[in-house]
Amino acid sequence: MIPQAAPGLRVRRHLEAIRIAVDRVLRSGVYILGPETEAFEYEFASMLGLPHVIGVNSATDALSLALAALGVGPGDEVLVPALSAAATAVAVHRLGAQPVLVDVEPKCRGLDPALISAAATSRTKAIVVVHLHGVPAMIGELITSARKLGLAVVEDCAQSQGARIGSAMVGSFGDAAAFSFYPTKNLGAVGDGGAVATHSADLAARVRRGRFYGMNERGICIEAGFNSRLDEIQAAILRVLLPYLEEENRQRRAFAAFYDLKFASLAAAGLVDLPPSLEGAVYHQYAIAVDGRDDLRRQLHAAKIGTGVHYDAALDRHAAFADNRAGAGGKSFPVAENLAGRLLSLPIQSDLDPYRDRVADALIGLLRARQASEGSICPT
Ligand SMILES: *Cc1c(COP(=O)(O)O)cnc(C)c1O
Repeated sequence: MIPQAAPGLRVRRHLEAIRIAVDRVLRSGVYILGPETEAFEYEFASMLGLPHVIGVNSATDALSLALAALGVGPGDEVLVPALSAAATAVAVHRLGAQPVLVDVEPKCRGLDPALISAAATSRTKAIVVVHLHGVPAMIGELITSARKLGLAVVEDCAQSQGARIGSAMVGSFGDAAAFSFYPTKNLGAVGDGGAVATHSADLAARVRRGRFYGMNERGICIEAGFNSRLDEIQAAILRVLLPYLEEENRQRRAFAAFYDLKFASLAAAGLVDLPPSLEGAVYHQYAIAVDGRDDLRRQLHAAKIGTGVHYDAALDRHAAFADNRAGAGGKSFPVAENLAGRLLSLPIQSDLDPYRDRVADALIGLLRARQASEGSICPT
């Protein structure tokens, strides 16, 4: 079986260096908030070109901590894209705030800037911009819309470590950015991990307190916070992998370019929609959109090719966010709903490069066979 994602292959490539790093932590006697976390925060901040990075337990926590530090609390509303990981909306919900879903646009599959002002109310405090699948969202337009309305901007960069718009790193545009180091992400740990990045020293200080119960340096709780710390073992492993991120992202782009070329005639025939092709994208996923997705997925599985679906349901279909349901209050999310029914993620990680021809040829064969059986156009 060709896996869709294979974090274990990446770990095995760096096994010796990881063993040395873990051993160093085990012998140090410092396991939480020590020199490894501090060094990783510094190294990750240098890569982003931002002054402050705070290591936390996950991107879900990073989003909540950043939003809380920006003043989001009970009764507030936060605009989030209708197509994202459930974690994006969960992070808002558990602050006692209301995630308000907004449809995405088809070009980058991120929040649609044209819908921001209509979705905002007097209770709206912030927007969360997700760079879905590692493709930068329309951040310039989104920031302009948010600023006009006085809203804070948090970038959800869980899928976009190292993505760029021009020469600027994704995560450097908003008031704060949240990163995930979940094992399958472009930069993944061997367990949970996350980070908040920001330009603001004041925001950084609040997030630093927030990850440690809300305490200041003297151990006084200023406001009730979380227990959400990046541990020393994960930080040490992330320091081993970080120097390879740029090269791995380059390989993901090359992998995507290979698929783009292979699938060009399928796309021209209207059999698939290819993912956005953007220079600074890092392709956490290479997600085509195709009719009859679930059947195709089963057929690929039978051919021993693993695929993923990111995501099977727009967030309005999740029971936890039911008050955002399409139709309720006149809201609908046609682009997100359409993508959720048609997206299919193919293997894209550099370790799976040896299988790229098998994956592409199987997909082409299945779609051409389907086309022939439907008798629409002659298969070529
Ligand atoms: C993975 C992911 C998250 C959650 O990350 P965790 O580290 O698992 O909390 C949030 N948002 C997006 C877009 C993600 O892909």
